[in-house]
Order: sequence, then structure tokens, then C-alpha cells
Amino acid sequence: TAPQRIAIVTGANKGIGLEICKQLLEAGVKVVLTARDETRGKAAVKKLQEEGATDVVFHQLDVADPASISTLREFIQSQFGRLDILINNAGINGGELVSQDTLVVGDLGSLAAALIEPYEKAQECIDINYHGTMEMCKAFIPLLQLSQIPRIVNVSSSAGKLQRIPGESIRKELGNINDLTEVRLEELVSKFLDDFKEGRLKESGWPYTMSAYKISKAAVCAYTRIIAKSYPKIITNCVCPGYVKTDINYDTGMLTVEQGAKGPVMLALLPDGSPSGQFYYQTELSSF
Ligand code: NDP
Repeated sequence: TAPQRIAIVTGANKGIGLEICKQLLEAGVKVVLTARDETRGKAAVKKLQEEGATDVVFHQLDVADPASISTLREFIQSQFGRLDILINNAGINGGELVSQDTLVVGDLGSLAAALIEPYEKAQECIDINYHGTMEMCKAFIPLLQLSQIPRIVNVSSSAGKLQRIPGESIRKELGNINDLTEVRLEELVSKFLDDFKEGRLKESGWPYTMSAYKISKAAVCAYTRIIAKSYPKIITNCVCPGYVKTDINYDTGMLTVEQGAKGPVMLALLPDGSPSGQFYYQTELSSF
């Protein structure tokens, strides 16, 4: 019989991440539930254990903190000697809510309109959503390469689809998987932050509502394709979970976390020979 699979889920103390853990546990996977806050993370593990789960352990992880990533890597290395599944789920929306009154369930536009985006928040959003995902991939690829069935799932968003980027040249570069390099991707993202800081988003062709969120997720998608190309043995995909009712959208989503976790979990458990370097919308193959 195949050895029990070992998974890391980031940002798993609540929302879709917590439900991903639950569904992985139901599938017989050993889950390392991670959270940046130890108290919140341990409470989530306790909740799963009270529901009957036994194969779940907590480990602290702030994806924006390189030291925290290293500590987790050492833990996984010494406990298991390999990793089978990495789910990069942690994320923030990059904004601050100014008013709850105009929010409409199911209407992402109403959310975008109710948020302000201070530069520091935009920076943090790029840092957590994009750099956090990237640094987790870099740290864990060596351990994933020791697995028989390595899978990376990057939780992205339809908000990061290329069509959301007004500027044609940016859109083309991010979508050109044959030529796009990690170095160029990094340059584009820092250009975005510069333009953001200088108030040049619109004229430079960037999105200008929920802009950091959209660019962080577009960058996650592009990075997913780069990884998939560079490491053909690791099945690496990104996925939009759908518009799910959680804290990130102040409960304006329409789907339940059970529905939202289905896509990421399906991708984590893909059989050998499955597509890699793809974007999924929930459980369906979609376009970037
Ligand atoms: P939640 O806000 O409920 O959960 C986000 C999780 O990420 C929390 O556990 C949060 O921890 C964690 N997190 C934030 N920053 C960090 C960090 N630096 N290090 C580690 N963990 C961190 O939102 P969702 O469950 O909805 O979001 C999960 C993912 O799904 C995100 O990547 C989001 O962008 C994506 N997504 C969600 C959609 C939706 O409709 N809900 C739609 C499309 C994509 P803490 O509690 O400490 O803040």
C-alpha cells in the first residue's frame, strides 16, 4: 500500500484553508495545519480533533516571514523527510473596508467600491499572496521532489485573470509562458508597486480597483506556470475557489467553504499524468 500522503496547508485557521484541511483529512491525508497566529491555529486543530480527526498537527507559519518558513521546513524535514502536497492558500484582500453599508452579496464590484487601498496594504498583499506563495514553493520543492506523488496547489482568484489587466503589453507579458521568466515577473510586480506609489496605476495599464489583489493573483498564476514548466514531475496548478462567503470578502461570497475547498482538494489529490500548469475555476479547467 502507498504511504500516507503528507500535506501542508497555509492560512488554515479559518475560511477555505480550514475546510481544505478537513476534506484532506477525510481523504486520509496527514495534514500539517499552519497559521501565522499560534492561538488561532491551535484552536482550529482542536476543532478538527473534536470532530474526530486524528491525523492533523499544527505548525506556526507566517508566509511573509522567511524565518518562519525555514522553521516549518526543518520540522517537515525532520518529522517526515519529504512532502507530498503543498497548498498555498493564505491570502489577504489588500484593502481596508470603509463602509459595510454598500456591500452586496455576490457582487465583487460592491466590495471593490467599499475598499480603500493604502500603499502599505498593497505592499503587504503582494508580499503575502505572491511572494509568500513563491517563497513557500522555493522552500518546499526540494522536499516535494522526494515524494512519489508531489502536488502544488496555489489558491489564486478569477480576480487575477489576465482579462482584468487593462494594459495590453502587461497582459501579454504575463500570459506569455514561453518567454516569461521569474526575474521578469519580479520586475513587473515591482513596477506595479512603484506605479501604485506614484499614483500612476491607470495610465500604466494596471487595474485600479482591488489592484494589488488582482496583480498578486495574476502573479501567482504566472509563477504557477513557471514552476510547472521548470519541475515537470511536480503537478502544479492554480485555482479560483469561486466566490465563497468568508472574512476576506466580509461574507459577501455566495458559496460555502465546503464548495470552495472542493477545487483545491481535487487538485491536491490529482492522479499521476494529470494536467500541470493550469488554471481551474472550482473543479473545472479554465483559462488564465
Ligand atoms: P479568509 O480571510 O477566511 O482566510 C485567509 C487565511 O489566510 C486566514 O487564515 C489568514 O490568517 C491567512 N493569512 C493571511 N496572511 C497570512 C500570512 N502572512 N501567513 C499565513 N497565513 C496568512 O479568506 P478565504 O478563506 O476566503 O481565502 C483563502 C484563499 O482563497 C485566499 O488566498 C483568497 O485570496 C482565495 N480566494 C478566496 C475567494 C473567496 O471568495 N473567499 C475567491 C477567490 C480566491 P489570519 O486569520 O491570521 O488573518
